[in-house]
Amino acid sequence: MECRSNKELKKFVREAKKCAKYGKVADYIPALGKANPNDLSIAIRYPDGKCVSAGDIDRKITLQSISKVISLALVLMDRGTDEVFRKVGMEPTGDPFNSIAKLETMAPAKPLNPMINAGALVVTHMIEGSNVEARLQRLLSFIRKLANNPEITMNSQVANSEFESAQLNRALCYFLKQHKVIDEDVEQLIDLYTKQCAIEMNCLELARVGMIFAMNGIDPDSGEQIIPEQLARICKTFMVTCGMYNASGEFAIKIGIPAKSGVSGGIMGAVPQKFGIGIFGPALDEKGNSIAGIKLLELLSETYQLTMF
Ligand code: GLU
Repeated sequence: MECRSNKELKKFVREAKKCAKYGKVADYIPALGKANPNDLSIAIRYPDGKCVSAGDIDRKITLQSISKVISLALVLMDRGTDEVFRKVGMEPTGDPFNSIAKLETMAPAKPLNPMINAGALVVTHMIEGSNVEARLQRLLSFIRKLANNPEITMNSQVANSEFESAQLNRALCYFLKQHKVIDEDVEQLIDLYTKQCAIEMNCLELARVGMIFAMNGIDPDSGEQIIPEQLARICKTFMVTCGMYNASGEFAIKIGIPAKSGVSGGIMGAVPQKFGIGIFGPALDEKGNSIAGIKLLELLSETYQLTMF
């Protein structure tokens, strides 16, 4: 059974919205603090082209940590698994996304996985190109293909706001550079990383990208294998084990789908072989996940038995 009507989805959104008041919009990146905590929107995109949605689905959101799955897919395609996993591990941390603690205790400073900031910075470091602009364009053209929108770009106000305030991420980079995990200029890497996080799209586009991961890298509209199957599988596995910050275990038990959230309140879901989900609900819980977005996924998972376990 699947949700195939906007009306039904609206009912779930109304119900899930009730818990938005218990969350808080992220404000450590000042530009994100302006979001309306009561917003909640969702789109579901099926491989047969059908799409259902509820809420303000034209609103654009910055990807933030959701971009980490996409940059990982690109870098795995460019450099192969051996090179990538020499520099970044495959294990969940149980720590907050921006923690530096395990970098110091896990010799030789190899980040535990690509979904925490330390690991994501290493992945972004591996995006190929002669300068920041060329590397950003490379990532953007991959994202435009996944979302099927050549106009997708980044929000420079959000990128600048994060660039000005990203001192913790700079600290992670300096630690990684000291231990020779990265070897580029830190300001340059922070510039590219903050621009990557500020790439924006609406829920429909986010759902389309989720659908491509759900379909093991195939774009069902064109039949093209955009991401090799084995690499799409690796990305989905990271979404299950570390996609929802240090709440990934609870999320796997209660909802049971590969998903990745970001501090802007976005969640990208990939229900294997079924559909992609894009959610925007900026009020976050204490772990940094969209509080109403998780409630909404809980309701959907219960009703339509979405768990893959
Ligand atoms: N740009 C954000 C940061 O690095 C992304 C974090 C997130 O969405 O979890 O702090």
